[in-house]
Amino acid sequence: MKVLKFGGTSVGTVESILSVKKIVEAIDEPVIVVVSALGGITDKLLQTSAMAAKSDVAYEKEFSAIITRHLDVIEGVIPDLETRRSVQRRAMGLLDELGNILRGVFLINDLSAKTSDTIVSYGERLSSLIVSHVIKDAQLFDSRKFIKTVKQFNKHIVDFEQTNQLIRETFNPLPKVSLVPGFISTSRDNGEITNLGRGGSDYTASILATALDASVLEIWTDVDGFMTADPRVINSAYVIDRLSFTEAMELCNFGAKVIYPPTIYPVYHKNIPILIRNTFNPEAPGTYISREKEKYDGKALIKGISSINDTCLITVQGLGMVGVIGVNYRIFKTLAKNGISVFMVSQASSENNTTFAVRNADADLAVEVLNKEFASERAQGDMNDTVAEKDLATVAIVGENMKRTPGIAGKLFGTLGRAGISVIACAQGASETNISFVIKREYLRKALNSIHDSFFLSEYKVLNLFVVGIGTVGGNLLEQIRLQQPKLMEQNGLKLNIVGIANSKKVLINRDGINLDNYREELMTKGMDSTPDTLCEQVLGMNIFNSVFVDCTASPDVAALYARLMNGNVSVVAANKEAASSPYENYQLLKETARHRGIKFLFETNVGAGLPIINTMNDLRNSGDHILKLEAVLSGTLNYIFNTIGPDIPLSQAIHMAMDAGYAEPDPRIDLSGKDVIRKLVILAREAGYRVEQADVKKELFIPDTYFQGSLEDFWKNIPKMDVEFEEKRKHLEGENKRLRFVAKMDNGACQVGLEAFDSHHPFYELEGSNNIIMISTERYHDYPMIIKGYGAGADVTAAGVFADIISIANIR
Ligand code: ADP
Ligand code: ASP
Ligand code: MG
Repeated sequence: MKVLKFGGTSVGTVESILSVKKIVEAIDEPVIVVVSALGGITDKLLQTSAMAAKSDVAYEKEFSAIITRHLDVIEGVIPDLETRRSVQRRAMGLLDELGNILRGVFLINDLSAKTSDTIVSYGERLSSLIVSHVIKDAQLFDSRKFIKTVKQFNKHIVDFEQTNQLIRETFNPLPKVSLVPGFISTSRDNGEITNLGRGGSDYTASILATALDASVLEIWTDVDGFMTADPRVINSAYVIDRLSFTEAMELCNFGAKVIYPPTIYPVYHKNIPILIRNTFNPEAPGTYISREKEKYDGKALIKGISSINDTCLITVQGLGMVGVIGVNYRIFKTLAKNGISVFMVSQASSENNTTFAVRNADADLAVEVLNKEFASERAQGDMNDTVAEKDLATVAIVGENMKRTPGIAGKLFGTLGRAGISVIACAQGASETNISFVIKREYLRKALNSIHDSFFLSEYKVLNLFVVGIGTVGGNLLEQIRLQQPKLMEQNGLKLNIVGIANSKKVLINRDGINLDNYREELMTKGMDSTPDTLCEQVLGMNIFNSVFVDCTASPDVAALYARLMNGNVSVVAANKEAASSPYENYQLLKETARHRGIKFLFETNVGAGLPIINTMNDLRNSGDHILKLEAVLSGTLNYIFNTIGPDIPLSQAIHMAMDAGYAEPDPRIDLSGKDVIRKLVILAREAGYRVEQADVKKELFIPDTYFQGSLEDFWKNIPKMDVEFEEKRKHLEGENKRLRFVAKMDNGACQVGLEAFDSHHPFYELEGSNNIIMISTERYHDYPMIIKGYGAGADVTAAGVFADIISIANIR
């Protein structure tokens, strides 16, 4: 024989009950079917009774919704008119009783535990009544008659001796199909209605399977099986084919809601396997839980991850504990006497404190009774007051293959470290099937995601990107990512998940990834209003692992967010030059934060767009070389202008053309005043190992300062005045076969920028369009400097450089 249990969602609607009918009727051996209340009804009964107890007359409305729900289901699942009428009558009989009890609660404003237990029992009594008339030849039983409980602290626990005997008597002979309400029971001593705790129908089924030596216990629910993590939190969680009883027990005890924890113990003892199946997808094979330990298949080192977010850590400490025998005995005896359950314990070998985890609701009582227990030691100063830290979360990774496998704890804690999550306490027993740790509750989701990703999805890596600024560079970048994504996934196993996009006004956030086909429209219609500050909060608030903030703006306000972001373990890729050229202290702090946190702060495109200048200099220095001198043409805009001016194109027009071609900064004065080149030179000098500020750079400008005072409009009005002078200069140099270049130089830390003329023998002479060139002299590249040359401006090459920075971050895991 088999025992099948169908949970609330499996009997929640007309369609699902009809699936149950199909599944059960296809079985050709005796079967006991255990059912929960219709999905959500237990919660509703508890809410309604709480309202009634508070004299809230609206309870009546809730109650009538409960009546309607049941009557509607009966209407839908029982086609035969006569049977339907009879079931309706019996259901109404039960609902009338329930209505009277609720009315009583309403009138006397009192809801005892006993009354509450009676009220919730109607959920399973009604559902079993209904389903018993849907499945052919099903015989309805009343579990209150054979599941017997005794009280221990505030819990009803099963009296197995009596229960087993009653079950064997009740199901002898065993009908072809028996229908049993789950969850409910009665007290062995006084016959009052009790229950087995929330989710207890699983346990009812297990008790029946054990007492009657079933061949299998099947738990039918609304997912395809036991999954590697809670699918409501981790959407990449997948079904585990096989689990051992121990693994299943470890996972359920720790929050995997799919099986009510006490369920496993009885069947485990009798070696009856459990099968988890999906009522809504009966073809799926489900998860098979048995005594057999699965051989390591070379893939996942662990089986699953589970968590509970209701955690309080209690610490008993004091130097007077060291080496003293009996302190732990007294701690746990005191807790046990007060009915406080402890689910994790950690004591370091220094013995000066013992930390353990309890539910938040038990915390105050635990502190009180422990302070009382150790009152005299505290008075003498041998021990401190007991400390409680509430609102934490506990996570466990589970798997029998962890046994004797080195490196699992390393991988776990390494993953958490990279995600910037600090572990407050941890525990691993010598059975080595479970490593549990406690973290701040706000980090739970991030912890689960990063651990799941690192242990189960190692075949591909995910980077979660926030892209800020969707102008020319940001827009190009998103388009390049959109086009390249399939290849990256296929060839490199890298998934770039765009979880946030923002412009100066709005931000769009989606953990599952924003569709790049129409993000502009979505940002406009669904984006939230945002400022740099709220943007930062959104990014940090998402608490997402492997995250990268990509700044494609030119905004100092956005650059000012980096430190906060990096302290939240978010890497930063900046096309924005503000941060790297800001005061040295800030630049250094950002670089140090990145190093300390194990994340990246990359800004290759700050100089020479996509040209690999900063990376090359870093490689040189990392291999022991010293950068002595830099000479460079670093402004694509200025170079374009000098290459464009001629007899027919005066300076002012060339500036306009540089703007139109998208080379210039949004405000061209930043280029023409040399400010942009100064920033770039400062960044290069710093990356070359010198402490330089913008004010240290000597400058010889080619447009007098007066042109830069006043508004942008004034500038455009005045600049044509320079045209004649410039054309003369150009003509004169042309006669000498020379060309003008705006050059940045660094010599042992001394920096300067200015206009220079070069003849055709110099590498700077041939520098077409908006190209940049840099000559790097080092101890090794001395007589012949290293030269890097190419497009130094333009949205597509800059975006490609940002893209390359992003990809280099993917290698950090
Ligand atoms: P039922 O009403 O059938 O008893 P439950 O809601 O009690 O169903 O349990 C099934 C739910 O457990 C799933 O819908 C899923 O959201 C949740 N769950 C949490 N952790 C896991 C896990 N590791 N594997 C599968 N389901 C899980
Ligand atoms: N109906 C009960 C509950 O919701 C028991 C169960 O569904 O297993 O907790
Ligand atoms: Mg359940």
